[in-house]
Amino acid sequence: MRFDGRVAIVTGGARGMGATHVRGLVAEGARVAVCDILDEVGEALADELPHARYHHLDVTDEARWRSVVRAVENTLGPVDVLVNNAGIMHFGGVEEQSPAHFRRILDVNLVGAFLGMHTVLPGMRERGHGAVVNVSSAAGMTGFAGGIGYVASKWGVRGMTKAAALDMAGSGVRINSVHPGVIRTPMGESASPELFAQQPVARIGEPEEVTRMVLFLAGDDASYTTGGEFLVDGGQTIGQG
Ligand code: NAD
Repeated sequence: MRFDGRVAIVTGGARGMGATHVRGLVAEGARVAVCDILDEVGEALADELPHARYHHLDVTDEARWRSVVRAVENTLGPVDVLVNNAGIMHFGGVEEQSPAHFRRILDVNLVGAFLGMHTVLPGMRERGHGAVVNVSSAAGMTGFAGGIGYVASKWGVRGMTKAAALDMAGSGVRINSVHPGVIRTPMGESASPELFAQQPVARIGEPEEVTRMVLFLAGDDASYTTGGEFLVDGGQTIGQG
């Protein structure tokens, strides 16, 4: 199995795509730390799986990142894989979005992913291997009206991925970004139903279709792949961006 004996952290792992990433990693042999702020849901998921543990982690909390990574290392072992998946969305255009919402989106989606890498990468560099998958969005390749904070955060994740991949190049640590289109999760289903039919493939994506890309990038099959951006969007961005 591709992740036999490996240790992974998945943020926002309690539900939606994060939960399918957790299930996919466990199914392929990984021991997984499910990190989220939805304690009941995350605990139930971890209880159901053989090698998963739940940790309360608000990704914006720098001190908590340090204590969770320490706890994961003590219980599951050194971290081989980090999936920065936690994210939030508040609709709002440049005129309507409150500055507080704009800041909060950047804090969770962008700063949260930075804090994850900042905390985990020194250990990966020391051990000479590791993989980070940062979840951006099709919105990190293009833009959409009414998504000023979300689009800014997801372009930030895409750019930060490239800078971090170069910082770590030659260390044995790879960092890539994944760009889902409209996916069937609580967040994806908040988009208007017309959007689903407008997709070139005329359907919404399933979380497992994103998980397969995340697992490819997190594992050794992607051994020569770093700083890349990987669409799982049913063709949504063709001809844009
Ligand atoms: P979701 O809302 O179902 O799940 C997001 C998870 O992140 C939840 O479990 C939530 O509790 C957690 N989370 C939110 N804030 C957090 C915080 N501060 N600390 C820790 N955890 C936190 O959404 P999803 O669709 O599964 O989204 C997963 C990722 O995929 C997000 O980064 C999202 O932006 C991205 N994405 C989603 C879609 C889509 O259509 N669903 C498309 C492109 C990108």
